[in-house]
Amino acid sequence: MCGIVGYVGNKSAKEILLEGLLKLEYRGYDSAGFAVINGKNIECLKCKGRVKNLKEDKKIGSVIGNLGIAHTRWATHGEPSTRNSHPHLDNEGKIAVVHNGIIENYVELKNFLLERGYAFLSDTDTEVIPNLIDYYYKLNGNENFLKAVKQATDELVGSYALEIISTHNLGEIIITRKDSPLVIGKGVGENYICSDVPAVLSYTNVFYYLGEREFAVITKNDIKFYNNNLESIKKEEKIVDWENSAADKGNFEDYMLKEIFEQPRKVEDTFNIENLKSLDLPKEYLNDLNKIVIVACGTAKNAGTVAKNVFENLCRIETLVEVASEFRYRNPIIDNKTLAIFISQSGETADTIAALKLAKSKGAKTLAVTNVKGSSITREADYSVYTLAGPEIAVASTKAYTSQIALLTLLAIDFAEKLNRVDSKIIEELRAELPNIGSKINFILENKELYHNIAKDIIENRDVFFIGRGIDYAVAEEGALKLKEISYIHAESYSSGELKHGPIALIEKGVPVIGIITDEDLVEKSVSNMQEVISRGAKSIVVTNQEIESDNFDYIINIPKINKLLSPILSVIPLQLISYYAAKEKSLDVDKPRNLAKSVTVE
Ligand code: GLU
Repeated sequence: MCGIVGYVGNKSAKEILLEGLLKLEYRGYDSAGFAVINGKNIECLKCKGRVKNLKEDKKIGSVIGNLGIAHTRWATHGEPSTRNSHPHLDNEGKIAVVHNGIIENYVELKNFLLERGYAFLSDTDTEVIPNLIDYYYKLNGNENFLKAVKQATDELVGSYALEIISTHNLGEIIITRKDSPLVIGKGVGENYICSDVPAVLSYTNVFYYLGEREFAVITKNDIKFYNNNLESIKKEEKIVDWENSAADKGNFEDYMLKEIFEQPRKVEDTFNIENLKSLDLPKEYLNDLNKIVIVACGTAKNAGTVAKNVFENLCRIETLVEVASEFRYRNPIIDNKTLAIFISQSGETADTIAALKLAKSKGAKTLAVTNVKGSSITREADYSVYTLAGPEIAVASTKAYTSQIALLTLLAIDFAEKLNRVDSKIIEELRAELPNIGSKINFILENKELYHNIAKDIIENRDVFFIGRGIDYAVAEEGALKLKEISYIHAESYSSGELKHGPIALIEKGVPVIGIITDEDLVEKSVSNMQEVISRGAKSIVVTNQEIESDNFDYIINIPKINKLLSPILSVIPLQLISYYAAKEKSLDVDKPRNLAKSVTVE
């Protein structure tokens, strides 16, 4: 979601702030702004739309200073407009705040402030914050600005990551957070703040992660940390080992394409048993489990659906997949015999973190599967394991999805070996396949012309259907999500057998139906389902690793044979590329699809 950047040092703040915001563009936003301290005043520049509008603004030349805060907004309260963009200032223009999150009780706070003579210039929830700080600062006799910040944030209900600068505390940036991430990058004679490390990774790889409701006061030579009682605390440095270049496009036209092509290596890296070393779930504990619940959102949820098939097959434990935003409000039936697994690429997905807290409170052991070390979810979970996908910049997830499947499969294999409920030959065969998976993905990637042609053939269609059975259905879900996310073509997934119970009514001449057929036990049934739609005029596209009569279909995409439990990692690749080329053919912004954000840090 929105991005936050901050800088204090000797350099011109605006260059660093704007460059940082550009690095966070992938998170999705609708307006941008920044504020710097210029001598004894706050100078602010904001705009609707892209960060480049700020750079091109005539007034930018006069916004000068070595300390500043910046923001890309993803509107939750008030339309995207310059007026509603951050930073927001108090009525006297002495306190500037940028905010990621939602203040749920802002109406109550606004009324409180209105009654005391404060005026509001925007429709945002955020604007109460600088004014509330001002209110407490004055109440404290114009002393102790940090205390006023604490008093104000104590009043806030909801989620926030805040950067605050003020003419009352020149030379300092104060930050605090709740349910929304913030990190501090340490430099020499300068320090950085950001909501996501790629923003400042070109300047430093030494970071501090701010905890829930903690505060940091950052000057160019010093970083002081405080707990919620404003008692001084110490924090450990963390070295981030992502190469800065990993966040560049390299020779690719778009991040998404680059990330699709990184999959052979990322999947192989993730299939390394070492990645489970932080996890030691004893055999007795696993034996006693009566349920695994996988909770996630979006693409991560689709990876969970694939994993459900793998866990149930190899471990013979009932595995449920739940959408986090539903699970958290559903009073789910879980206890200490439930293992609850939470998948979030960023580790910051608000709904998934809330669901994790709920599962924990009900006695389940919680396991986070994420791509980001030190992210919020890892601080809440009992155990954390990491995909080695590297930074994923494109909003539509590709390499994180296949890496999540790889890691969850590895986990299922590990559990299965301990549980010993299925023939050990099955596990051995599965393990034997792992070293070759990268070259099989590469083989599929080589066929891009075919995917491009299919994309050209479907872009004029209003609807596209994805069908499959069993584990192939899980991939159909992801194929449909990818297509709608980036090409804006309406796409739905159905279990093949379910078609004739309703959706087949939508099939008419020329409607594309993409069937995924990799389960050898279900080939005939799946082919019959394709025949049913062909008979009704559908444009048929099949992704398969089985020997199927190709004459029957408009397009057939042959992928290498592999153990059925691993097939999603291969069968999803053509679907990712069809979506990519469909979006390109429609001249859409593939990496930043409309209305979407990379890490959904608000509910
Ligand atoms: N709720 C705030 C607003 O609508 C912040 C949104 C964001 O996280 O970007 O301005």
